[in-house]
Amino acid sequence: VRSEGGGNIISLTKADHKALSTKALIEKRLLIALDEKNLKVLYQPQLNLATGKITGVEAFVRWEDEEIGIVTPDVLIPIAEETGLINDIGTFMLEQACLQAATWHKKGLNLKVSINSSVREFRDKNMVLQIRKVLEKTNCPANLLQIEITEKFALEAEAETSIIQQMKQLEADGIVFVLDDFGTGYASFRYMQLLPLAEIKIDQTFISTLEYQKKVQKLIQGIIQFGKTINMRVLAEGVETAGQQELLAGFGCDAVQGYHISHPVTPREIEKLLK
Ligand code: C2E
Ligand code: CA
Ligand code: CA
Ligand code: CA
Repeated sequence: VRSEGGGNIISLTKADHKALSTKALIEKRLLIALDEKNLKVLYQPQLNLATGKITGVEAFVRWEDEEIGIVTPDVLIPIAEETGLINDIGTFMLEQACLQAATWHKKGLNLKVSINSSVREFRDKNMVLQIRKVLEKTNCPANLLQIEITEKFALEAEAETSIIQQMKQLEADGIVFVLDDFGTGYASFRYMQLLPLAEIKIDQTFISTLEYQKKVQKLIQGIIQFGKTINMRVLAEGVETAGQQELLAGFGCDAVQGYHISHPVTPREIEKLLK
Protein backbone atom coordinates (compact mmCIF):
# COMPACT_ATOMS: atom_id res chain seq x y z
CA VAL A 1 0.00 0.00 0.00
CA ARG A 2 1.45 3.30 -1.04
CA SER A 3 0.56 6.75 0.12
CA GLU A 4 0.28 9.73 -2.15
CA GLY A 5 3.70 11.02 -1.05
CA GLY A 6 4.51 12.88 2.14
CA GLY A 7 4.74 16.63 2.52
CA ASN A 8 2.46 19.07 4.20
CA ILE A 9 -1.00 19.24 2.80
CA ILE A 10 -2.78 22.53 3.04
CA SER A 11 -6.22 21.24 2.44
CA LEU A 12 -9.00 23.76 2.22
CA THR A 13 -12.36 22.43 3.32
CA LYS A 14 -15.64 23.39 1.68
CA ALA A 15 -16.45 25.65 4.63
CA ASP A 16 -13.10 27.42 4.34
CA HIS A 17 -13.79 28.16 0.75
CA LYS A 18 -17.15 29.67 1.52
CA ALA A 19 -15.78 31.73 4.39
CA LEU A 20 -12.93 33.11 2.36
CA SER A 21 -15.00 33.33 -0.78
CA THR A 22 -12.05 31.88 -2.61
CA LYS A 23 -14.15 30.54 -5.45
CA ALA A 24 -13.17 33.45 -7.63
CA LEU A 25 -9.55 32.99 -6.60
CA ILE A 26 -9.67 29.30 -7.46
CA GLU A 27 -11.17 30.10 -10.83
CA LYS A 28 -8.45 32.66 -11.54
CA ARG A 29 -5.63 30.36 -10.42
CA LEU A 30 -7.14 27.38 -12.23
CA LEU A 31 -7.13 29.28 -15.51
CA ILE A 32 -3.41 29.91 -15.04
CA ALA A 33 -2.76 26.31 -13.99
CA LEU A 34 -4.56 25.00 -17.06
CA ASP A 35 -2.67 27.40 -19.28
CA GLU A 36 0.66 26.33 -17.82
CA LYS A 37 -0.38 22.67 -17.61
CA ASN A 38 0.33 22.76 -13.89
CA LEU A 39 -2.21 20.09 -13.05
CA LYS A 40 -0.96 16.61 -12.32
CA VAL A 41 -2.42 13.16 -12.83
CA LEU A 42 -2.15 10.18 -10.49
CA TYR A 43 -3.25 6.67 -11.39
CA GLN A 44 -4.87 4.07 -9.15
CA PRO A 45 -4.58 0.42 -10.19
CA GLN A 46 -7.56 -1.86 -10.74
CA LEU A 47 -7.01 -5.52 -9.90
CA ASN A 48 -8.72 -8.32 -11.79
CA LEU A 49 -9.75 -10.84 -9.13
CA ALA A 50 -9.87 -13.86 -11.45
CA THR A 51 -6.31 -13.41 -12.74
CA GLY A 52 -4.74 -11.49 -9.85
CA LYS A 53 -3.38 -9.03 -12.41
CA ILE A 54 -3.58 -5.26 -12.65
CA THR A 55 -5.52 -4.69 -15.86
CA GLY A 56 -6.29 -1.00 -15.66
CA VAL A 57 -5.90 2.27 -13.81
CA GLU A 58 -8.13 5.23 -13.01
CA ALA A 59 -6.75 8.71 -13.59
CA PHE A 60 -7.37 11.39 -10.96
CA VAL A 61 -6.60 15.08 -11.27
CA ARG A 62 -4.24 16.58 -8.68
CA TRP A 63 -3.65 20.27 -8.23
CA GLU A 64 -1.28 22.05 -5.90
CA ASP A 65 -1.30 25.77 -6.51
CA GLU A 66 1.63 27.84 -5.30
CA GLU A 67 -0.72 30.47 -3.86
CA ILE A 68 -3.61 28.45 -2.45
CA GLY A 69 -2.00 25.08 -1.84
CA ILE A 70 -3.59 21.72 -2.56
CA VAL A 71 -7.12 21.91 -3.86
CA THR A 72 -8.74 18.47 -3.59
CA PRO A 73 -11.09 17.20 -6.33
CA ASP A 74 -14.16 17.38 -4.08
CA VAL A 75 -13.62 21.15 -3.97
CA LEU A 76 -12.10 21.62 -7.41
CA ILE A 77 -14.54 19.63 -9.56
CA PRO A 78 -17.80 21.32 -8.42
CA ILE A 79 -16.27 24.77 -8.97
CA ALA A 80 -14.92 23.69 -12.35
CA GLU A 81 -18.36 22.36 -13.28
CA GLU A 82 -20.00 25.64 -12.32
CA THR A 83 -17.53 27.82 -14.17
CA GLY A 84 -17.27 25.63 -17.25
CA LEU A 85 -13.56 25.00 -16.67
CA ILE A 86 -14.42 21.31 -16.29
CA ASN A 87 -14.19 21.10 -20.07
CA ASP A 88 -10.57 22.25 -19.93
CA ILE A 89 -9.77 19.87 -17.08
CA GLY A 90 -11.46 17.12 -19.08
CA THR A 91 -9.38 17.88 -22.16
CA PHE A 92 -6.19 17.92 -20.08
CA MET A 93 -7.04 14.61 -18.39
CA LEU A 94 -8.02 13.01 -21.69
CA GLU A 95 -4.72 13.99 -23.30
CA GLN A 96 -2.65 12.88 -20.33
CA ALA A 97 -4.51 9.58 -19.97
CA CYS A 98 -4.20 8.76 -23.68
CA LEU A 99 -0.51 9.69 -23.71
CA GLN A 100 0.06 7.44 -20.72
CA ALA A 101 -1.94 4.53 -22.14
CA ALA A 102 -0.03 4.86 -25.42
CA THR A 103 3.33 4.98 -23.61
CA TRP A 104 2.49 1.79 -21.70
CA HIS A 105 1.13 0.18 -24.87
CA LYS A 106 4.46 0.81 -26.61
CA LYS A 107 6.20 -0.93 -23.71
CA GLY A 108 3.93 -3.94 -24.17
CA LEU A 109 1.74 -3.10 -21.18
CA ASN A 110 -1.93 -3.17 -22.08
CA LEU A 111 -3.42 -1.18 -19.26
CA LYS A 112 -6.83 0.36 -19.69
CA VAL A 113 -6.93 3.95 -18.47
CA SER A 114 -10.17 5.38 -17.06
CA ILE A 115 -10.99 9.06 -16.91
CA ASN A 116 -13.88 10.72 -15.08
CA SER A 117 -16.26 12.74 -17.21
CA SER A 118 -18.88 15.32 -16.34
CA VAL A 119 -22.10 15.55 -18.30
CA ARG A 120 -21.20 19.12 -19.20
CA GLU A 121 -18.29 17.86 -21.31
CA PHE A 122 -20.70 15.79 -23.39
CA ARG A 123 -22.91 18.80 -24.06
CA ASP A 124 -20.07 19.97 -26.31
CA LYS A 125 -21.15 18.75 -29.75
CA ASN A 126 -17.48 18.27 -30.70
CA MET A 127 -16.79 15.76 -27.94
CA VAL A 128 -16.61 12.73 -30.25
CA LEU A 129 -14.35 14.51 -32.73
CA GLN A 130 -12.14 15.80 -29.94
CA ILE A 131 -11.69 12.36 -28.39
CA ARG A 132 -10.94 10.79 -31.78
CA LYS A 133 -8.34 13.49 -32.48
CA VAL A 134 -6.62 12.96 -29.13
CA LEU A 135 -6.55 9.19 -29.63
CA GLU A 136 -5.00 9.68 -33.05
CA LYS A 137 -2.51 12.33 -31.95
CA THR A 138 -1.31 10.24 -29.01
CA ASN A 139 -1.39 6.90 -30.87
CA CYS A 140 -3.63 5.47 -28.18
CA PRO A 141 -5.76 2.43 -29.12
CA ALA A 142 -9.41 3.35 -28.48
CA ASN A 143 -10.02 0.16 -26.51
CA LEU A 144 -7.54 1.28 -23.85
CA LEU A 145 -9.66 4.31 -23.00
CA GLN A 146 -12.50 4.04 -20.49
CA ILE A 147 -14.83 6.86 -19.53
CA GLU A 148 -16.46 6.88 -16.11
CA ILE A 149 -19.80 8.61 -15.77
CA THR A 150 -21.82 9.06 -12.61
CA GLU A 151 -25.46 8.17 -12.06
CA LYS A 152 -26.21 11.89 -12.15
CA PHE A 153 -24.62 12.06 -15.60
CA ALA A 154 -26.60 9.00 -16.71
CA LEU A 155 -29.87 10.44 -15.47
CA GLU A 156 -29.33 13.70 -17.36
CA ALA A 157 -28.04 11.92 -20.47
CA GLU A 158 -31.18 9.78 -20.53
CA ALA A 159 -33.14 12.85 -21.60
CA GLU A 160 -30.57 14.21 -24.06
CA THR A 161 -30.46 12.14 -27.23
CA SER A 162 -27.35 13.93 -28.53
CA ILE A 163 -25.38 12.70 -25.52
CA ILE A 164 -26.60 9.12 -26.01
CA GLN A 165 -25.65 9.32 -29.69
CA GLN A 166 -22.16 10.55 -28.87
CA MET A 167 -21.68 7.77 -26.33
CA LYS A 168 -22.79 5.18 -28.88
CA GLN A 169 -20.39 6.54 -31.50
CA LEU A 170 -17.52 6.34 -29.05
CA GLU A 171 -18.56 2.86 -27.96
CA ALA A 172 -18.48 1.77 -31.61
CA ASP A 173 -14.88 3.09 -31.73
CA GLY A 174 -14.02 0.70 -28.89
CA ILE A 175 -14.17 3.08 -25.94
CA VAL A 176 -15.67 1.56 -22.79
CA PHE A 177 -18.17 3.41 -20.60
CA VAL A 178 -18.30 2.72 -16.88
CA LEU A 179 -21.08 3.61 -14.43
CA ASP A 180 -19.36 5.17 -11.40
CA ASP A 181 -20.62 5.43 -7.79
CA PHE A 182 -23.27 2.79 -8.46
CA GLY A 183 -25.97 2.66 -5.84
CA THR A 184 -25.54 6.14 -4.39
CA GLY A 185 -27.87 8.05 -6.61
CA TYR A 186 -30.74 7.36 -8.85
CA ALA A 187 -30.05 3.91 -10.28
CA SER A 188 -32.56 3.60 -13.07
CA PHE A 189 -33.15 0.64 -15.31
CA ARG A 190 -34.10 3.03 -18.08
CA TYR A 191 -30.67 4.56 -18.50
CA MET A 192 -29.02 1.20 -18.00
CA GLN A 193 -30.96 0.11 -21.04
CA LEU A 194 -30.42 3.31 -23.04
CA LEU A 195 -26.73 3.96 -22.46
CA PRO A 196 -23.84 1.81 -23.75
CA LEU A 197 -22.44 0.88 -20.33
CA ALA A 198 -20.03 -2.06 -19.96
CA GLU A 199 -19.10 -1.87 -16.29
CA ILE A 200 -20.59 -0.99 -12.92
CA LYS A 201 -18.47 0.43 -10.10
CA ILE A 202 -19.98 -0.31 -6.70
CA ASP A 203 -19.55 2.80 -4.59
CA GLN A 204 -17.07 2.79 -1.73
CA THR A 205 -19.72 3.62 0.87
CA PHE A 206 -21.06 0.06 0.51
CA ILE A 207 -17.60 -1.48 0.68
CA SER A 208 -16.72 0.28 3.93
CA THR A 209 -19.44 -1.57 5.86
CA LEU A 210 -19.20 -4.82 3.90
CA GLU A 211 -17.35 -6.80 6.55
CA TYR A 212 -19.74 -6.00 9.34
CA GLN A 213 -23.17 -5.84 7.76
CA LYS A 214 -24.81 -9.01 6.48
CA LYS A 215 -27.39 -6.90 4.69
CA VAL A 216 -24.71 -5.05 2.72
CA GLN A 217 -23.13 -8.39 1.82
CA LYS A 218 -26.42 -9.61 0.41
CA LEU A 219 -26.91 -6.32 -1.43
CA ILE A 220 -23.49 -6.54 -3.06
CA GLN A 221 -23.96 -10.19 -3.96
CA GLY A 222 -27.19 -9.08 -5.61
CA ILE A 223 -25.49 -6.30 -7.56
CA ILE A 224 -22.80 -8.72 -8.77
CA GLN A 225 -25.43 -11.24 -9.87
CA PHE A 226 -27.37 -8.45 -11.56
CA GLY A 227 -24.21 -7.36 -13.41
CA LYS A 228 -23.57 -10.90 -14.64
CA THR A 229 -27.15 -11.29 -15.81
CA ILE A 230 -27.05 -8.15 -17.94
CA ASN A 231 -23.48 -8.82 -19.12
CA MET A 232 -21.79 -6.00 -17.28
CA ARG A 233 -18.49 -6.25 -15.45
CA VAL A 234 -18.64 -5.31 -11.78
CA LEU A 235 -15.79 -3.53 -9.98
CA ALA A 236 -15.80 -2.61 -6.30
CA GLU A 237 -14.08 0.64 -5.34
CA GLY A 238 -12.77 1.82 -2.00
CA VAL A 239 -11.44 -1.62 -1.04
CA GLU A 240 -9.25 -0.95 1.99
CA THR A 241 -8.81 -4.35 3.64
CA ALA A 242 -7.87 -7.92 2.75
CA GLY A 243 -11.15 -9.03 4.30
CA GLN A 244 -13.18 -6.88 1.94
CA GLN A 245 -11.23 -8.15 -1.06
CA GLU A 246 -11.72 -11.79 0.01
CA LEU A 247 -15.46 -11.36 0.44
CA LEU A 248 -15.74 -9.68 -2.98
CA ALA A 249 -13.67 -12.43 -4.62
CA GLY A 250 -15.99 -15.00 -3.04
CA PHE A 251 -19.02 -13.18 -4.43
CA GLY A 252 -17.54 -13.38 -7.95
CA CYS A 253 -16.81 -9.66 -8.26
CA ASP A 254 -14.69 -9.05 -11.38
CA ALA A 255 -12.27 -6.41 -10.12
CA VAL A 256 -11.32 -4.25 -7.15
CA GLN A 257 -9.76 -0.85 -6.63
CA GLY A 258 -8.75 0.87 -3.40
CA TYR A 259 -6.09 1.66 -0.84
CA HIS A 260 -5.65 -2.06 -0.06
CA ILE A 261 -4.16 -2.47 -3.52
CA SER A 262 -2.63 1.00 -3.84
CA HIS A 263 -3.35 4.68 -3.41
CA PRO A 264 -3.35 6.76 -6.59
CA VAL A 265 0.33 6.95 -7.63
CA THR A 266 2.64 8.08 -10.43
CA PRO A 267 2.99 6.05 -13.66
CA ARG A 268 6.44 4.91 -12.57
CA GLU A 269 5.01 3.50 -9.34
CA ILE A 270 2.28 1.74 -11.34
CA GLU A 271 5.02 0.04 -13.37
CA LYS A 272 6.73 -1.07 -10.14
CA LEU A 273 3.45 -2.54 -8.90
CA LEU A 274 3.13 -4.57 -12.11
CA LYS A 275 6.35 -6.43 -11.30
P1 C2E B 1 -14.44 8.91 -7.76
O1 C2E B 1 -14.32 8.91 -9.24
O2 C2E B 1 -15.52 8.09 -7.16
O3 C2E B 1 -13.00 8.49 -7.24
C1 C2E B 1 -12.74 7.78 -6.05
C2 C2E B 1 -12.14 8.67 -4.99
O4 C2E B 1 -11.84 7.89 -3.83
C3 C2E B 1 -10.82 9.34 -5.37
O5 C2E B 1 -10.74 10.56 -4.64
C4 C2E B 1 -9.79 8.34 -4.83
O6 C2E B 1 -8.54 8.92 -4.59
C5 C2E B 1 -10.46 7.90 -3.55
N1 C2E B 1 -10.10 6.53 -3.16
C6 C2E B 1 -9.50 5.56 -3.88
N2 C2E B 1 -9.37 4.43 -3.16
C7 C2E B 1 -9.90 4.68 -1.95
C8 C2E B 1 -10.05 3.89 -0.75
O7 C2E B 1 -9.68 2.72 -0.67
N3 C2E B 1 -10.65 4.50 0.30
C9 C2E B 1 -11.09 5.79 0.26
N4 C2E B 1 -11.66 6.29 1.35
N5 C2E B 1 -10.95 6.56 -0.85
C10 C2E B 1 -10.38 6.01 -1.94
P2 C2E B 1 -10.32 11.92 -5.34
O8 C2E B 1 -9.17 11.70 -6.27
O9 C2E B 1 -10.19 12.93 -4.27
O10 C2E B 1 -11.56 12.27 -6.25
C11 C2E B 1 -12.84 12.54 -5.71
C12 C2E B 1 -13.87 12.65 -6.80
O11 C2E B 1 -13.58 13.77 -7.64
C13 C2E B 1 -13.86 11.45 -7.75
O12 C2E B 1 -14.66 10.41 -7.21
C14 C2E B 1 -14.42 12.04 -9.02
O13 C2E B 1 -15.82 12.08 -8.98
C15 C2E B 1 -13.89 13.44 -8.97
N6 C2E B 1 -12.67 13.54 -9.81
C16 C2E B 1 -11.38 13.25 -9.51
N7 C2E B 1 -10.57 13.49 -10.57
C17 C2E B 1 -11.38 13.91 -11.57
C18 C2E B 1 -11.18 14.33 -12.94
O14 C2E B 1 -10.06 14.31 -13.48
N8 C2E B 1 -12.29 14.72 -13.66
C19 C2E B 1 -13.55 14.72 -13.10
N9 C2E B 1 -14.57 15.13 -13.86
N10 C2E B 1 -13.77 14.35 -11.84
C20 C2E B 1 -12.71 13.94 -11.09
CA1 CA C 1 -14.38 7.48 -10.85
CA1 CA D 1 -16.51 6.29 -7.69
CA1 CA E 1 -17.26 9.35 -5.74
